[in-house]
Amino acid sequence: MSLTTTPPWDDVQNYIDGDWRVPSDDGQDVVNPATGETVSYVGFSSENDVDEAVRAGQEAFEDWSTTPVEERIQPLFELKQLLEAHQDELAEVLVQEHGKTLAEANGELRRGIENVEVACGIPSMMQAGHLPNAAPEIDETAVRKPLGVFTAITAFNFPGMIPLWFLPYAVATGNAFVLKPSEQDPVVAQRIFELIDEAGFPDGVVQLVNGGVNTVNALLDHNGIQGASFVGSTPVAETIYERAAANGKRVQAQGGAKNHIIVTETADLDFAAKKTVSSACACGGERCLANDVVVVEEGVYDEFVDRVVEVASDQTVGYGLDDDIDIGALITPDHEARVRDMIATGIDEGADLLLDGRDVTVEGYEDGNFLGPTVFGDIDPEMTIAREEIFGPVLGLMSVDNIEEAIDVMNRSDFGNAASLFTGSGADARKVRHQADIGNLGVNAGTAAPMAFFHFGGRKDSFFGDLHAQGEDMIHFYTDKTVYIERWPSA
Ligand code: NAD
Repeated sequence: MSLTTTPPWDDVQNYIDGDWRVPSDDGQDVVNPATGETVSYVGFSSENDVDEAVRAGQEAFEDWSTTPVEERIQPLFELKQLLEAHQDELAEVLVQEHGKTLAEANGELRRGIENVEVACGIPSMMQAGHLPNAAPEIDETAVRKPLGVFTAITAFNFPGMIPLWFLPYAVATGNAFVLKPSEQDPVVAQRIFELIDEAGFPDGVVQLVNGGVNTVNALLDHNGIQGASFVGSTPVAETIYERAAANGKRVQAQGGAKNHIIVTETADLDFAAKKTVSSACACGGERCLANDVVVVEEGVYDEFVDRVVEVASDQTVGYGLDDDIDIGALITPDHEARVRDMIATGIDEGADLLLDGRDVTVEGYEDGNFLGPTVFGDIDPEMTIAREEIFGPVLGLMSVDNIEEAIDVMNRSDFGNAASLFTGSGADARKVRHQADIGNLGVNAGTAAPMAFFHFGGRKDSFFGDLHAQGEDMIHFYTDKTVYIERWPSA
């Protein structure tokens, strides 16, 4: 099969019980953020559409949950091959509905495929434990069992990767699964489901329902759904957490972020400057791992600021499908306007605008949502741009007396998703490792993104729940344990 990469594409559909179906309610256009052109249309799923998807999942669960695990992972091996064979086409589609660069789209898909690979190890990962002679003549065995139908509601910023933080683990553990992707860039999820359709899962094991708020609420209120994963902004994450929990479901809700970089006097400043700009500006800054508050020890502050401005000035803004582009387009004109407002707020609150990305124009793409890298100096922790998520290619630097003050600035944030430290000092690294109230910490690494065999998730307002995405946490989320306590007396 070959996926068409040239839009306009057919309307996005749902995938329910092994069939493609048109969502019942009116939806919205899918627009290329770099060109302003409509590339597709996505209808929204009604309560009834959601009910059909959940019921198909419940029916499929009966056989799938008792299918030998070795058989359950065969479609995942197939899916890995299909995703790899079609990665180039998926990446091209992704760029045209999201706006990031082709290299970023490929990178994201690779990280998604990694999760499929990890889930293929379920036969080992799902084992729970056995203890002979736990008590006189008693053997005890713990087993993990799948629970039923799970859903994931996902964000726009990694439309090819985030669904794969959940889907492979849900089905490998023996559950059925319903994905509700972002309505802003739903085409790549549909393309992945075309490959899922080829991969050989029994009908009903994996479903796709498109839509917005009403579709999400129908999923969260459906009593056939056992648990929900969410990835998106903090206010929505909090309401999803509350609604799903009130309905008796397992829930894990990943929210927004505000991430810090700490640069000490012993850091390799050139390396740190490159990584800082990339961390803040890659994917247009639309990353929950973007580190955009840069806290620098005062002895190297001026020098580091100069290097960051130099690196940021060299970034090329443009259409993600073109060659040698560093920063693509932002998702919508509204979002671009929001980031521009944040820049204006930074200026109003007294930050020093060192590099202004607002005047960028990309020849041939005048209707695109482009912003160039923007750098502020002399920010302080109380400013809006230092406290709130910007989700654009904007970063701010501040000077601190020492590592203790840097840690304090970082830990005072309402968010706790990620942070990075650049240093040549093991003692400073150890101090930050021990004191940072953070879910993911990079040491001399600009973007603290763990591989799929580690869990991924934040703290504080960046996360609501306990078990995180990816890796072993997913096995716990998607299963419940039973302990068999057995006595077989010899007499
Ligand atoms: P969003 O909260 O607007 O939307 C996320 C999902 O929720 C979408 O599927 C959307 O349809 C649905 N949704 C939106 N509003 C809703 C409502 N009121 N009720 C029910 N459902 C609703 O987020 P977004 O703009 O798509 O994504 C960007 C945000 O996601 C950023 O804040 C970013 O930091 C965060 N994010 C976090 C992580 C993480 O791992 N912590 C990863 C990626 C993105």
